[in-house]
Amino acid sequence: MINDLRQVIRGRVLTDGDEGFERAREPWDGAVDQRVLAVVEAEDAADVAAVVRHASLYGLAVATQPNGHAPSAGFEGTILLRTSRMRAVHVRPEERVARVEAGASWQEVLTAAAKHDLTGLAGSTGAVSVTGFVLGGGLSWFGRKHGFAANHVVAFELVDAQGEHRRVTAGSDPDLFWALRGGGGDYAVVTAVEISLFPAPELFGGRLMWPAARAAEVLTAFREATRTAPDDLTLWFTLLQLPPLPELPEPLRGLSAVCLDVTYLGGEEKARELLAHFDAIPGAVMDTRGMLPVDRLGEICMEPTDPTPALVTSHLLTDLDDRAATTLLAATGPGTVAPLAFVMIRHLGGALAVPRPDAGACGHLTEKYQVHAGGMLLWPEMAGPIRERQASIARALSPCTSDRKVFTFLGHDEPADTAFPAETFARLRRIKIRRDPLGTFRSNHPVR
Ligand SMILES: Cc1cc2nc3c(=O)[nH]c(=O)nc-3n(C[C@H](O)[C@H](O)[C@H](O)COP(=O)(O)OP(=O)(O)OC[C@H]3O[C@@H](n4cnc5c(N)ncnc54)[C@H](O)[C@@H]3O)c2cc1C
Repeated sequence: MINDLRQVIRGRVLTDGDEGFERAREPWDGAVDQRVLAVVEAEDAADVAAVVRHASLYGLAVATQPNGHAPSAGFEGTILLRTSRMRAVHVRPEERVARVEAGASWQEVLTAAAKHDLTGLAGSTGAVSVTGFVLGGGLSWFGRKHGFAANHVVAFELVDAQGEHRRVTAGSDPDLFWALRGGGGDYAVVTAVEISLFPAPELFGGRLMWPAARAAEVLTAFREATRTAPDDLTLWFTLLQLPPLPELPEPLRGLSAVCLDVTYLGGEEKARELLAHFDAIPGAVMDTRGMLPVDRLGEICMEPTDPTPALVTSHLLTDLDDRAATTLLAATGPGTVAPLAFVMIRHLGGALAVPRPDAGACGHLTEKYQVHAGGMLLWPEMAGPIRERQASIARALSPCTSDRKVFTFLGHDEPADTAFPAETFARLRRIKIRRDPLGTFRSNHPVR
């Protein structure tokens, strides 16, 4: 049956035994083994429609995955649909809109938008697909100013469960448009997305880093600065264990560090004034802060761009009071976060906390901070210690964590219902059952 597919599509079809199949089924995050039936690399929307019709004819499921930044062990027996060859980006500067094909990355959009002094609501890395990001809500560097990225989608082009290719907007199909904006990839295969862009004539940003011995002082300054931060300022606090790699210069090689990552949508003078708390802390080993071209946003956190196997968890914090700060430092130390690679706290609030009548399934977030802890799964035996450290951090912080998580930060195969209030999740399930009754679409965090 997969052979029939080869006759009708332009892209590559690979099954077990084909040269390149093993490589093609691997996700970017190789912590998960994806035992799929076939991999199809679609060239265009017509290929996508053919795959969906074929799957539904033979009772198979389709798991769409441009990259595998958020893989799933639940794709067994599916057709893994790669959209990574579909990456055209077209900016309409007069409308401040970009049409982005399903495989295009944030970096490609940032580069295209920067030519017009515009930017999009990208997160910490330019490597993830815009489509995967907005389908999960998308927590951007500029979320405090503009809210979830998903709430700034103008339209989706998609192939539905009947294999029809169509454009979906708030007016044409309000239910599906709502679900796709933060409810994940369970309802259709998106072939392109139209997103709003925003003026960004000036961007200040960068990373400040100290040895981990300064963690308590940096956390105190972070709490002070975030208490009064304007929505144009975004601060992230990270405890980091750098690897002992020869390519890292001294003193960074193997360093247990504490970092402040920052963006400010404005000029340098005002930014430095807002960051004065941090300049008073001595001993910085790195300071990359300065005026930045907007398309270099994804470089601030120096996140890996090459495939990386990782185990991550996250929680939303209702506050970061004295007790939570002391607890956090005790639970992540002493001295190093190892076997984790990082523990990051993102300041939320601003527009993320404001309910909007036109919001998608991502809604809004009332929690003030998010904590995100990850370890690199370099060999399978590391899974136990990484999970134990993540669990002990979660236990210690439990008095100030809420019961909700951010969808794009769910761990592998963590259930989708943890990312939504109960009534939102019930509505997503109803839409899934109505729009995809045969279960043709299989997302990484299924709602059904
Ligand atoms: C280094 C790193 C940094 C990150 N930083 C942030 C951040 O700052 N903010 C944030 O919110 N998230 C962040 N994330 C999480 C990231 O946004 C999610 O993992 C997102 O799902 C990645 O999208 P992808 O398409 O690249 O990944 P993939 O694993 O390829 O896809 C993820 C899922 O998206 C769905 N999907 C993707 N494309 C389609 C499509 N065309 N049609 C239907 N469904 C589709 C599928 O359900 C798929 O399983 C980060 C992840 C990494 C690895």
